Amino acid sequence: KILLSAACVAFLAARWTAPRFDAESLRGARVLVTGASTGIGEQMAYHYARFGAQVVITARRDKVAEECLRLGAQKALYVAADMASESDPDTVVDFALEHLGGLDYLVLNHIGPSPFSMWEGDVEHTRWLMKVNFLSYVQMAWRSLASLEQSKGSLVIVSSLLAKMPSPFVAPYASTKHALNGFFGSLYHELAMKKSNVSVSICTLGLIDTESAMDKVRGYTDVPPYPAPDAALNIIVTGATRQPELFYPWFTRALILSKDWFPSFTDYVIQNSYNYTP
Ligand code: NDP
Repeated sequence: KILLSAACVAFLAARWTAPRFDAESLRGARVLVTGASTGIGEQMAYHYARFGAQVVITARRDKVAEECLRLGAQKALYVAADMASESDPDTVVDFALEHLGGLDYLVLNHIGPSPFSMWEGDVEHTRWLMKVNFLSYVQMAWRSLASLEQSKGSLVIVSSLLAKMPSPFVAPYASTKHALNGFFGSLYHELAMKKSNVSVSICTLGLIDTESAMDKVRGYTDVPPYPAPDAALNIIVTGATRQPELFYPWFTRALILSKDWFPSFTDYVIQNSYNYTP
């Protein structure tokens, strides 16, 4: 009860003190969204389009550019990229800088597919996933930093509750998200200390009802998922209002506190919330 009350107070305080979101600020904004062919990235592309932004979307497949134009994007351009490649992350940023004339938002969201299973020693997969889910983020952030500095722009990182509270069956994925939080958490301080114009937002998400996530957890857990369009909107608002953190849904913050305050109890709950027979 104490924990829940503390979380509620923290949530309400954060809501009251958060700057107001002005949708007009996104009209004409120059946005690059990665991993935008499906799931949360696709929904973010649609929201930015409705707000009248200029969007560059990237993934290995193009499924959304046309729809973004229909929804009202001032521009919607697709550039194909495989984020495991050493050159594609730079190529994508260069494409956006050239076609949009700069960047106001870099939204890093893509993830490579990873199994939901006990880790059985696949080191190569972990190495590959680090490239896709982590190193490409670092590379793209660096490539766009000068432009974001000029535009007083924002760097938005889509992370996960698993970056703060690992659960079973996701060891390679959770490690890439921990790396993201570590790197961009440190960069956040450095930019603030340099009095940089660039804001960094790290978004902690719980279970969201995207097809890829649902395919993985079906049969393993009954934890209710939250809707991708709402998660996407919350990420966009967090970036637009330059908030350093998002916790979505709100109670993910309480779960993280519970891990620190009651570790044994939380470990018990985590291990018993999955259907698994050895
Ligand atoms: P999806 O699997 O739906 O989307 C992943 C995106 O990444 C797709 O657009 C995919 O497109 C792209 N992608 C995959 N591999 C590559 C690659 N090698 N190079 C370039 N692009 C690639 O994921 P979600 O929408 O579920 O997740 C989005 C973000 O939200 C991720 O950062 C995830 O960690 C985070 N998150 C999601 C949660 C959830 O429950 N859904 C929970 C917590 C965090 P394509 O295949 O066309 O390349």
